[in-house]
Amino acid sequence: MFLEGKRALVTGSTSGIGLAIARALAAEGAQVVLNGFGDADEIAKLCDELGATHSGADLTDVAQVEQMMADAGDIDILVNNAGMQHVAPVEDFPVDRWNLIIALNLTAAFHTTRLAVPAMKTKGWGRIINTASAHSKVASPFKSAYNAAKHGLDGFTKTIGLELAEFGITANCISPGYVWTPLVENQIPDTMKARGMTREQVINDVLLVKQATKKFVQPAEIGALAVFLCRDEMQNVNGANWSVDGGWTAE
Ligand code: NAD
Repeated sequence: MFLEGKRALVTGSTSGIGLAIARALAAEGAQVVLNGFGDADEIAKLCDELGATHSGADLTDVAQVEQMMADAGDIDILVNNAGMQHVAPVEDFPVDRWNLIIALNLTAAFHTTRLAVPAMKTKGWGRIINTASAHSKVASPFKSAYNAAKHGLDGFTKTIGLELAEFGITANCISPGYVWTPLVENQIPDTMKARGMTREQVINDVLLVKQATKKFVQPAEIGALAVFLCRDEMQNVNGANWSVDGGWTAE
């Protein structure tokens, strides 16, 4: 349990990849702060299971991010994972969706980072792990806001990796390919519409077409990599963008 005594905040951890990362960090002894939306009873159960606390902050609202960070106390491991998707042609892309996606998938990571870094610098140790995406490296049509935000998150991560390297702090991206979570399931109807395809065609000819394994990545695999990046042996891994995409971006 090499993370005993460390405090980890995982944004967007009431579901999917964030929950898997929270579980993996807690299994190594980290004290976890969960964040995200969902059914209050389910979240209470998760808190019991993981010995965690929970913040329901909406990360698209700066004031709520600031309150969450003040309540969370000093954070040793910051995982910026909360994200959302919208699929539409650029000329029809709803302006409010664009603004929300940039706010959640990119700007929220800036706010949590700027607020977490002072305590990490004081301790001389920190880990910042940003859930980016294969879409931080390559694009797909109809996902303009998401691709822009994730490419931006990669640039942000490289920048802070350079700034913080001398302080015992690392910052890296994990970039999954398609992982079967509500975020992926919910984009199927709009993708069917944007591309004129059936559900089956979307799964096989869009989602899995570039994943060389032809299988979805499992959330626990992302959790395992997040834990690995927290090891002291990883202290020189900084500003990197780790693909977990079944080979997609190797092509
Ligand atoms: P998910 O929909 O299962 O989980 C999203 C989480 O974010 C939930 O806990 C939700 O409550 C929370 N959330 C949503 N809006 C929020 C807000 N305004 N404030 C705070 N929390 C909010 O999605 P997921 O697939 O687990 O995605 C997690 C991350 O992984 C995202 O950044 C996503 O872009 C990235 N990602 C996912 C995939 C995939 O295939 N699922 C692939 C690459 C990258």
